[in-house]
Amino acid sequence: MTTSRIRVFPDSCLRKICTPVRSFDGELKELVMHLRQIMQNQKMGIGIAAPQIGVLRQVALVNVSVRVEKAQELVLINPVIRWMAGENLSHEGCMSLPEYTGYVQRAARVGIRYQDLSGNSVDYEAEGLEAVCIQHELDHLQGKLFFDRVVTLKTDMHPRHWKKKTRR
Ligand SMILES: [Zn+2]
Repeated sequence: MTTSRIRVFPDSCLRKICTPVRSFDGELKELVMHLRQIMQNQKMGIGIAAPQIGVLRQVALVNVSVRVEKAQELVLINPVIRWMAGENLSHEGCMSLPEYTGYVQRAARVGIRYQDLSGNSVDYEAEGLEAVCIQHELDHLQGKLFFDRVVTLKTDMHPRHWKKKTRR
């Protein structure tokens, strides 16, 4: 079912619209545990979405506690954005685009509604890095990647590491 391999662009799983979760069962809990484990293995990982491991379901994890004090893990099942406010230009990276980072314009604050592991509906408001991360992960569930939102690929996308020029 699941694999621990992170899907990297241009893997087709990253471009699919994910289907909603209907049964809140053991399989869902297993998927969430698995996502958590993979995110924790990534140094400074703050979010992951199910399609990044090839599971096309509306499940994402956000946990900015490595950078924001008192932040808690959010397990987002079937999440939707209810409102957005303000603007925030942020420098983003993605496990599925390991070679690049980019500047992305997003809302500074968001209100979302999602379901928890038991299927209960939860309303939540976020700001700052957590709001940005939520928007990034919800994009994944719609088959969108952060570079779809940069203003120009030429000026807003940057290689993560400068590769040494090799002589031929
Ligand atoms: Zn991502």
